[in-house]
Amino acid sequence: MFNIIEINKTLNTFTNIKKVWISPAQNKMGLLDGKVAIITGASRGIGKEIAKEFINQGATVAFTYLSSDEKAKALEVELSANGGTIKGFKSNAADYDSAHELSDAVMKEFGKIDILVNNAGITRDNLLMRMSEEQWDEVINTNLKSVYNLTKAVLKPMLKARIGSIINMSSVVGVSGNAGQSNYSASKAGMIGFTKSIAQELGSRNIRCNAIAPGFIETEMTAALDEKVVQGWRDSIPLKRGGSPKDVANTTVFLASDMSAYVTGQTINVCGGMLM
Ligand code: NDP
Repeated sequence: MFNIIEINKTLNTFTNIKKVWISPAQNKMGLLDGKVAIITGASRGIGKEIAKEFINQGATVAFTYLSSDEKAKALEVELSANGGTIKGFKSNAADYDSAHELSDAVMKEFGKIDILVNNAGITRDNLLMRMSEEQWDEVINTNLKSVYNLTKAVLKPMLKARIGSIINMSSVVGVSGNAGQSNYSASKAGMIGFTKSIAQELGSRNIRCNAIAPGFIETEMTAALDEKVVQGWRDSIPLKRGGSPKDVANTTVFLASDMSAYVTGQTINVCGGMLM
């Protein structure tokens, strides 16, 4: 039984607890705390911003790149400076065996894989009349076959753990098509079909699969384009601006986190209303 002194002591303890309340930011509570993510193609652009946001939200990040060794090293240094856990892997997403080696290496290093972001992608634009077989194959292999490679490679650990979120970086042109981009549009449309099929196959195992379709996203690459042309694009978008890599990264965090626990098989357009 408590006596009056003990009750007072208890109340004081509660009061003290109130006084030392720690804000979520101080406590580093994040939407992705404790989760391990693979992000393909994160040495620059959208993938790099996704890596930053994932680290901010408490995830452990394994990212890939194809050739940008220095940029990858710099990203590791930048994002581990505040205690984040991040590791870069030089791994060709278009290669089946490399994808499996990557998955094995991440399992060995971090023990699990909760999230896969299939972000690596390239363009080789040309009108069909002039498009070479090489331009077609390169885009389909890097953008679409890579999604099969990586998803297949992380399947075993995700199935075993009965948890997973797979996010495929498609594009609005995968929905609408675009003259001069038949290879790219086909690869991005293929990703959406793949996403819906995997969502149906793996939903019963608590593995979700969604796609993001970014519109016009302003990156280092678009900064080099003619300002008048770019302004014309901005003016034609309902929100009157190009998107930022952070706009895409925020949606990726949502789909990776438990905030989207009841969302699967969907394509979210992050395009300022360009596509409705
Ligand atoms: P970037 O060209 O800026 O970056 C591409 C990234 O993918 C780089 O890290 C690159 O590595 C990596 N990569 C390329 N090929 C491979 C490969 N075979 N294996 C592993 N990594 C590879 O692209 P963005 O940031 O602009 O685009 C990212 C994704 O978003 C792409 O899938 C793109 O199609 C999609 N998207 C982009 C839009 C935009 O406006 N930017 C609009 C709609 C969709 P390295 O540096 O070593 O070459």
